[in-house]
Amino acid sequence: MQLQTILHRVQRHKSFVYRGAAFRDGATGLALDVTIEPRANGKPICSGCGRRRPGYDRLPARRFQFVPLWGIAVCFVYALRRVDCPRCGVKAERVPWASGKERLTTAYQWFLARWAKRLAWQQVADIFQTSWNTVYRAVTLAVLWGVAQRSLDGIQGIGVDEIAWRKGHQYLTLVYQIEAACKRLLWVAAERTAESLRGFFTMLGEARCAALEFVCSDMWQPYLGVIAECAGRAVHVLDRYHVMARMNQALDEVRRAEVKQLEADGHEPVLKHSRWVLLKRPENLTEDQTAKLNELLRYNLRSVRSYLLREEFQRFWEYRSPYWAGRFLRDWCRKVMRSRIEPMKKVARMLRSHEELLLNWFEAEGVVSAGAGEGMNNKAKLAMRKAYGFGTLRGVKIALYHQLGALPEPKFAHEFC
Ligand SMILES: [Zn+2]
Repeated sequence: MQLQTILHRVQRHKSFVYRGAAFRDGATGLALDVTIEPRANGKPICSGCGRRRPGYDRLPARRFQFVPLWGIAVCFVYALRRVDCPRCGVKAERVPWASGKERLTTAYQWFLARWAKRLAWQQVADIFQTSWNTVYRAVTLAVLWGVAQRSLDGIQGIGVDEIAWRKGHQYLTLVYQIEAACKRLLWVAAERTAESLRGFFTMLGEARCAALEFVCSDMWQPYLGVIAECAGRAVHVLDRYHVMARMNQALDEVRRAEVKQLEADGHEPVLKHSRWVLLKRPENLTEDQTAKLNELLRYNLRSVRSYLLREEFQRFWEYRSPYWAGRFLRDWCRKVMRSRIEPMKKVARMLRSHEELLLNWFEAEGVVSAGAGEGMNNKAKLAMRKAYGFGTLRGVKIALYHQLGALPEPKFAHEFC
């Protein structure tokens, strides 16, 4: 069987034919050049307007990198024709295997982009002997295509989240669809201002905003205002993930203050290295950590009391009826207010003043998936680590959409990976 036969099978072009193939010593080892020629009767397509136009002349032959075969780099070699277009003037033709001035074929770019979903970008670059930038460009193509093609219809439940990136309090605003049947990233914007979030609602459009049933978010004031304004008909939910995250922050604050206090007073360092022991749910602890927790629980420390208060609050989410949940919430807050632990009291005050939003949780259950907010947040952090190597906002956005956007992909005649 000839190489041309294989190529015809995996990537056929109506107006072009594969001619000869020849080995070459490439920069990274053995390479294969496959010459492409236009069919004799076919007129070139103008890259300006997309119409068939008479040929003008031909440019020098160029290489377009294709998907490698058995560890051999494969390039298409083709001399682009120029067209004489009455509308656009003299223009290079448009070819079906690559776009614009791109040196990589579209098939190869999708190939790299797909691998970049599974591996760190630098790993993909190393394996396929290309550069990190080439992988980045490929992923960008996939994301731009996917975002343009995705459907935003029928979204019922969304979650608004913020995530830290770079050192020193820089944030991104993320919006997810968090329904049991569909979890995906819908929006990324710089900072966590009202404007960051407003951009999402503008993109979604009025009709789809009006169809939103639930919006989950933290009590971040700039978000609250925009949500009330743009998704006024949706039930606003203060969700489990954000409440427990606040509680963990308070717990850590208590612990850190107490570590300092104990050290200053010359007591034994029982709280050292106990951060994860206190923040994790008991069922997620390792054996060593459980031992550490048992040791801690023997002391009547403020950290331990805060820990117990948090664990007690977990029961809130198990209620079925908002009425009983409300009673539980008020009891719990009263108890915390008597605890004299300031960071926990702050959480209790916040929960009290947003009781309605908190109780909305019981309405949203069933549509909004309980663990979705936390799950997406963890995945976002992982995606940012995997794409490690850039500091630009555009790069972070591309990486997040690629990994979490559940973006559509074109249908190919052949799936290369
Ligand atoms: Zn034209």
